[in-house]
Amino acid sequence: MSEQQQTVYDVIVIGGGHAGCEAAASAARAGARTLLATHRLDTIGEMSCNPAIGGLGKGHLVREIDALDGLMGRVIDRAGIQFRMLNRSKGPAVRGPRAQADRALYRKHMQEAINNTENLDIVGLAVEDLIVEDGKVSGIIGVDGSEIRAQAVVLTTGTFLDGIVHMGNERIPAGRATGKEGWEKPATGLSKRLYSAGFTMGRLKTGTPARLDGRTINWDLLEMQPADEQPVPFSFMTDTVEVPQISCGITHTNEKTHQIIADNLAKSAVYSGSISGQGPRYCPSIEDKVVRFRDRDQHQVFLEPEGLDDHTVYPNGISTSLPSDVQDAFLRTMVGLENVSIIRFGYAIEYDYVDPRSLRPTLETRAMPGLFLAGQINGTTGYEEAGAQGLMAGVNAARKALGVTEPFILDRSQAYIGVLIDDLVSNGVTEPYRMFTSRAEYRLTLRSDNADQRLTPIGIEAGIVGPKRASLFHVKQSDLKEARDWATKTQLTPNEASSMGLKVNQDGRRRSVLDLLSLPDVTLEKLESLFPALQEWPRLIREQLAIEALYSGYLHRQKADILAFRKDESLVISEALDYGQISGLSNEVREKLIRAKPGTLGQAARLEGMTPAAIALILAHIKKGVPGSTKTDKRAGSE
Ligand code: FAD
Repeated sequence: MSEQQQTVYDVIVIGGGHAGCEAAASAARAGARTLLATHRLDTIGEMSCNPAIGGLGKGHLVREIDALDGLMGRVIDRAGIQFRMLNRSKGPAVRGPRAQADRALYRKHMQEAINNTENLDIVGLAVEDLIVEDGKVSGIIGVDGSEIRAQAVVLTTGTFLDGIVHMGNERIPAGRATGKEGWEKPATGLSKRLYSAGFTMGRLKTGTPARLDGRTINWDLLEMQPADEQPVPFSFMTDTVEVPQISCGITHTNEKTHQIIADNLAKSAVYSGSISGQGPRYCPSIEDKVVRFRDRDQHQVFLEPEGLDDHTVYPNGISTSLPSDVQDAFLRTMVGLENVSIIRFGYAIEYDYVDPRSLRPTLETRAMPGLFLAGQINGTTGYEEAGAQGLMAGVNAARKALGVTEPFILDRSQAYIGVLIDDLVSNGVTEPYRMFTSRAEYRLTLRSDNADQRLTPIGIEAGIVGPKRASLFHVKQSDLKEARDWATKTQLTPNEASSMGLKVNQDGRRRSVLDLLSLPDVTLEKLESLFPALQEWPRLIREQLAIEALYSGYLHRQKADILAFRKDESLVISEALDYGQISGLSNEVREKLIRAKPGTLGQAARLEGMTPAAIALILAHIKKGVPGSTKTDKRAGSE
């Protein structure tokens, strides 16, 4: 046995994708001796599909990952070549930071971040199986038969679990395509292991468009979309984005494109019936768009360069599983693409996922203690959803390995991460799950601008935030407090306000600068010109004050809602509760409860199909103090 094979780790993470990188880094930050085992070291941080991070809802997740000292935000700040704040004209609560990435730079900086993480070893190894002893996971087995032991394992195999690529009637066992080199091998041994352990599993699918040679696109015919003039970084640690920014082209499908697709639908892997897995409704293939939106005579296609020194172009919005000759024909019908040359054809991929209702809120599987799952394997889609789960699974795996009994859980009122995991473990998925701001009940509180204020203190307490971030955070908090105090104490009478050109009611009431900032006609810029003292604080602090002032009335009300929510969340239900003992529950509801094993009364209430009457019965049962019906709540920050 080599030295590595004898080593016992606290945590092993399988997979170097978005979930795997965050899981490995967060487990290491939480103090666990960690090993990242992934097929190939050079594909760590690979973006399998669209080269972009963030967007609506997803951008919030990246800010939250960053607030907990994760990697994704810092990496995209060093690799983003087109930063845009989506929904800029709407309120700050639903704005979504997004950046298109230079694929190679993203990989480079993610690999650098992983390589520089203390407490973390990395090995290029295809993992074939898990070591399972007495029903518990205690390590991994490589394809070469090598065994490496650990107290906990985080599995993050993305689309690789028994992956099958479809293009027309071609079926290729593969996890994804990488670069121009062809197909990466699927993970079949691990799939067999999970099936044989009795996990409830299913098939999902996703797809990707062709990649185009930018040198053969007629850019002069296209409308161009520039980056924001002042890119707003993702990470709370980044001052400015220094990567050069580029523009994207915009073209459209047309009637001719749609006709070619409609004529060849039977050749599409999705429509010929050779794929059974459900695809993402919110990210439909071009075949789906043509069929589902028959009345539309065009669809927008963004032509996104994949890098500063790369002529590959990603045509966003036209993923497909049609045969290559049909892809070639329909692409050339679009303005600017008349003579386009294709670097790699689009494809669909079908893969296994595990029903996330088999997970605890820590992302540990109930059936196999010590095994944690994160990312696409749990039925989600997207780098951000994967990264967020990875971070949480990594911390919890580390805690389990190190014997810390308190789990690391965020609830729905604390973070989009909490919404994501609660949705998954409570209600499972029927299609690949992606984050939207509409999934969060407490949107005004869970803003992307305040992710650090919400989560960095929790991360510091959990020991997963490094000293550099902690010290920057404390400085920011102290600046913010000072600015808030000044803006509360500095007040004007209505007369004084009017004489300064501010429109206020002449009601005799003195108004603070914060009050003035909440008025619709008063801008931050106006107050900065009237009160030069305000300019002494950094721009970010002043903007934060303006956002807080804007929402102050609503936030007050939302606080009351959150308190009511927390009350239900503090009613903890033991996993050992015997629902058979609660009379009055319908069989259907009882089955749902037995399957989901909700951890709190709040979670029980959120299960699909749950009735107020059933919740009242559970509450009465808990209140009777039946042994085994409650347990102590040790969730992070749930007090
Ligand atoms: P991945 O990023 O896939 O990483 C998995 C990692 O596990 C890889 O490093 C792999 O090498 C490693 N691995 C797997 N098996 C083993 C093993 N046995 N041993 C060792 N290492 C192993 N997302 C969207 O948001 N929108 C889309 O439209 C979209 N379309 C997609 C289309 C395609 C064709 C593909 C492949 C993906 C698409 N995605 C899309 C999904 C996006 O790529 C994933 O959501 C994201 O990468 C998931 O991250 P992950 O960490 O879970 O898995």
